[in-house]
Amino acid sequence: REEEDIDTLSQRVADLDPKSSAPPENFVEVPLSQATQDGLSASHFKTLTTIQSRTIPLALQGADILGAAKTGSGKTLAFLLPVLENLYRKRWTDYDGVGALILSPTRELAIQIFEVLRKVGRNHMFSAGLVIGGKSLQEERERLGRMNILVATPGRMLQHMDQTSELDIGNLQMLVLDEADRIMDMGFSQTIDALIEHLPRERQTLMFSATQTKKVSDLARLSLKEPEFVSVHEAA
Ligand code: ADP
Ligand code: MG
Repeated sequence: REEEDIDTLSQRVADLDPKSSAPPENFVEVPLSQATQDGLSASHFKTLTTIQSRTIPLALQGADILGAAKTGSGKTLAFLLPVLENLYRKRWTDYDGVGALILSPTRELAIQIFEVLRKVGRNHMFSAGLVIGGKSLQEERERLGRMNILVATPGRMLQHMDQTSELDIGNLQMLVLDEADRIMDMGFSQTIDALIEHLPRERQTLMFSATQTKKVSDLARLSLKEPEFVSVHEAA
């Protein structure tokens, strides 16, 4: 029964036209799992923001994306929903290791992302962990071995990649760089380069930022494959 649902869902994703002149307006129109639909309605999310309607269909189909839209435009769901859905459609389980890694420039932003993930992802079976330091490396380490989705700051994540053997990242499907402009401004460029060295090349990468800068496009050139550039300028 469940197998059947996922196959139908995958077919609906394949049938999406991400460049459509009529992008989806309501989440119910988007081919999302029932678990995600329930999480969205419990959180009272009904209509997609512009950046969401232009990136979610592409991301569901597995494209690499560089998305730019100002602060407050809803970029968090633009990557969290594809993370949940793409792992769900791959029937990701506890045994598959880390399926998605979401990098955020600061601990505070990482915590915010994690809280949204817990809300909209509450009906999914995935395990999710925050990797932001503050606890002992050992304490974080013990939980990392069992996580499917990690929300992390770059420095702390790299520390684990270098030192935590329990970390099973070789199967990673998705890398998300949120606030890529701030990640670069805060001097994490080399840390990101080193992190990417640890990741499988065959993966989907989503990058989001509030502004488009040269540093962001340089980072995109190195980490994205034939990316779709989606930039939203809304009148204030
Ligand atoms: P950004 O990362 O672009 O700065 P956020 O993802 O933090 O934006 O979202 C900003 C605010 O908009 C949050 O309070 C969030 O709950 C709300 N929001 C996001 N998407 C939607 C939506 N589709 N419908 C209503 N509110 C939304
Ligand atoms: Mg944000």
